[in-house]
Amino acid sequence: MKIRDVLATGRRTISFEFFAPKTDQGVESLFRAIRRLSSHRPDFVSVTYGAGGSTRNETVDLVSRIKAEVGLETMAHVTCVAQTREDVHDVLERLEELGVDNVLALRGDPPRGQGVFVPVEGGFRYASEVITHIRRNFDFGVGAACFPELHPESVDAASDMVHLREKVDAGADYLITQLFFDNRDFFDFMDRARGVGIRVPVLAGILPVLATAQIRRFASLCGASIPPALDRELEKYVDDDDGARELGIEYAARQVEELWRAGVDGIHFYTINRSHSVSRVLEAAGLPGTAG
Ligand SMILES: Cc1cc2nc3c(=O)[nH]c(=O)nc-3n(C[C@H](O)[C@H](O)[C@H](O)COP(=O)(O)OP(=O)(O)OC[C@H]3O[C@@H](n4cnc5c(N)ncnc54)[C@H](O)[C@@H]3O)c2cc1C
Repeated sequence: MKIRDVLATGRRTISFEFFAPKTDQGVESLFRAIRRLSSHRPDFVSVTYGAGGSTRNETVDLVSRIKAEVGLETMAHVTCVAQTREDVHDVLERLEELGVDNVLALRGDPPRGQGVFVPVEGGFRYASEVITHIRRNFDFGVGAACFPELHPESVDAASDMVHLREKVDAGADYLITQLFFDNRDFFDFMDRARGVGIRVPVLAGILPVLATAQIRRFASLCGASIPPALDRELEKYVDDDDGARELGIEYAARQVEELWRAGVDGIHFYTINRSHSVSRVLEAAGLPGTAG
């Protein structure tokens, strides 16, 4: 089923994002987490595409396995880093053959150490080009990324919106945000997006903090800011991951509660392949679909 068809009914979605583990043991523990989280009846789950397309085979295998073995709707992330148009086309063909209905079309980040993104010769330059290619050649439901605090390479808010609008005009059915910790950033982003005529649903990306050092690293890598008050609290748990995790659960639950009350189209959890915090956030926020 296409995620856009679920959203078109007016249903507000809950979804979980996972990454492709590198070991068999990691895959086993991922499936345990997915099965536990499936009790929350998510509308879909997604699997990321490792940096530079490094996990493309694993991503394809996992989305089809999750669909077949756990019975959840899936979405495959696809990026165009270090791949030709033909490479990306082949991955899309395999996803289609395996009966995957949804794709998150992304450009991807430049490999570490290479400051700017450089497409391979003849490769896609922007996510909007991948979306156009998908629309011309495939019948997937298509999502795209958006950035409440602007994409780190964006020159300014206006050009960020121009390029986001290009992705929607190319055929993105819905958008999923980068993680953010201040709901005002999300609400301001929504005002800007609606202001330039972007009407598609926007799912808010939420990451429950698991550890202080880890979240500081993640946030700086993806250009998300940690509000000073949260950072001061996190500082208390620099050497106490359990404490940081409890803080993360409480903080994310408050974020989700406020977003849900404000009528957000959906919440997309960055799970880091863990189930405990996300389950607790859903229960604390009292969201529909929670198993209780
Ligand atoms: C929900 C979500 C999931 C993600 N999953 C993954 C994943 O699985 N694997 C992974 O590697 N990365 C992932 N990322 C990270 C993402 O790939 C990076 O943030 C990347 O830098 C931007 O990807 P994009 O699709 O938004 O790119 P684009 O939309 O192409 O934008 C990239 C930059 O180019 C600018 N731009 C766009 N079009 C033009 C144009 N025509 N002219 C000039 N400038 C332009 C944009 O403003 C932006 O600054 C994810 C991000 C999000 C929010």
